[in-house]
This record gives sequence, structure tokens and C-alpha cells, in this order.
Amino acid sequence: MSIPYIGRFAPSPTGPLHMGSLLAALASFLDARSQQGKWLIRIEDLDPPREQVGATDSILRSLEAHGLLHDGDICFQSQRHERYLEVLEQLLKLNAIFPCQCSRQELAANKGIHNGRCHSDKVELPSPGWAWRAATQAINLQFEDSLKGIQRQALAEEVGDFVLLRKDGLFAYQLAVVVDDIDFNISHIVRGEDLLSSTARQIYLYELLNCTPVKYSHLPLIMNSQGQKLSKQNHAPEIQSSLAPENIYFCLQLLGQKPLAELRGASCEELLQWGIENWNLKDIPASLPRPAS
Ligand code: GLU
Repeated sequence: MSIPYIGRFAPSPTGPLHMGSLLAALASFLDARSQQGKWLIRIEDLDPPREQVGATDSILRSLEAHGLLHDGDICFQSQRHERYLEVLEQLLKLNAIFPCQCSRQELAANKGIHNGRCHSDKVELPSPGWAWRAATQAINLQFEDSLKGIQRQALAEEVGDFVLLRKDGLFAYQLAVVVDDIDFNISHIVRGEDLLSSTARQIYLYELLNCTPVKYSHLPLIMNSQGQKLSKQNHAPEIQSSLAPENIYFCLQLLGQKPLAELRGASCEELLQWGIENWNLKDIPASLPRPAS
């Protein structure tokens, strides 16, 4: 029996939706719908200091205006802290995590990489001022990305023991993303290639939790004219909902799907329907052209 397709789009509400995030939303939506799959939305509101007031509403309004309608209820990570703690306790029982108080300056000597348990003290989980790290092993983690091919990462050497609960008491993205993807039975993840380097850490957590990792597709990123990834930090402009069909058409082109010329001027619904019927992941280019400055 094949596993039902469940995909997701998981924006952090650090700013409004920009063209780069629309591209990821559209690709994950089309990949799911073209395989009769479900498409869920998760708001990754884990880090209140980095969030922007009103960003969640604005992201959700933009998605709707572009016809990207989701299934089920929206998941908010801010409401799942108990579950994240429960999984940390499970990992502690497996002796897979350890407490740490190392500072950034201390780790700088080792290029920021933490290797090995640094404390023998008995520490409660959670305890203010203590981070909790996943103990990595000297393994070469390998996985296949449908767009980028075979990927390898020597976890202990290249990444080191990574943080799951921060010193300031906030849960780390790496933990929350895996717990949620497991709990919501996500089968496929289509997202930007800036997260490719996080994937081995996430697969490692799946393995520790005895779960089967998902299928990954990492998309090329839209760059600005300075060659930086479009992002909220780089003040990428908010996507205009009044231009929703044009935005969808533009993203279909960027994704190498070659929308028909007569679809210019079509509605979002028509464009998305065409996109679902003609979706081919293999047509996505390896990189996107950088706009002229
Ligand atoms: N919340 C992350 C972001 O906005 C995406 C996480 C993911 O897709 O795994 O970049």
C-alpha cells in the first residue's frame, strides 16, 4: 500500500509573503495536488522576538488571494510546546540529548561546532540557562533529494551536536519541524534549498525517533540583484495580491513549467488548474536567473 501524499507549507511569520516564499508555496501546492495529495499550512511562530506583528494574517491572506487553499486546520507551533517537551523527554530517555552551557565564544575556536557531551552535572529538562543538544555520531548521513540528487553530510564533523532547546527556553526549528512533520504524517517536503543543509539533522532526528523520513525536494532560490536570497531580512518586497494571477504565472515560469501564452490574463484558479495538470518536478531548473541590477 502506498503512503498517502501529505505536503505542507511552513512559513515563519517574520514578515509578509514575498516572491521567494510564494514560489515555495506554489511548488509544494502543485506537487501535492498533482498527486491527489493534501496540502497543509503550518505557521512556524517559535521565535517571538523575530516575529512581525500582523505577519501571520498577512501571509494567510496572500495565500488565499493567490488561490492556494489548504486542507485541514492550520497548525501553530506556538501551541505545541508541550508536545516538543514530550519529545525531548523521549530523546533524553534514549540518551540522545545532553545539556550544554557553552557560549558562542567558546565554540568559535572549533568553527562553532560542538562535539561531545560537555557536562556531567545532573540538569532538569528544561532548566533556565541550559541549552539541550542532540548528540551527533561520526556517521556520514546520506539521502536523496528529488531535485538535488544524492546528498551527504558528516554530521558530527560538519555540523556537530545541534541545539534542540535553546538557552533562552525557545524550542529550536530543527526539533519543531521534525516533530510536526511526523505528527501530521507529512510525506513530502518541497521547500527552498536554503534548508538543504538542515535536512541531514532532521533525518537524524527521524532516525532517533524511529520514524521514516519524508521525500525531499529542495527548490532553487530567487536571488535579488545583489545575489542574496530574497528574504525578510533583505527586505524583499511584499507580494501584491492585486497582481495574484501575474505572480502565479511568473512563478510557474520560474519553476520551468512553461505556462501557455494564452494563459496570460487567466484567473488564479485557471492557472493553478493548468499547473496541477501539467506539473513536472523534473522541469524545475537547477538555479534561477538573477535579475539585472
Ligand atoms: N519556517 C521555515 C521558513 O520560513 C521553513 C521551514 C521548512 O519548510 O522546513 O524558512
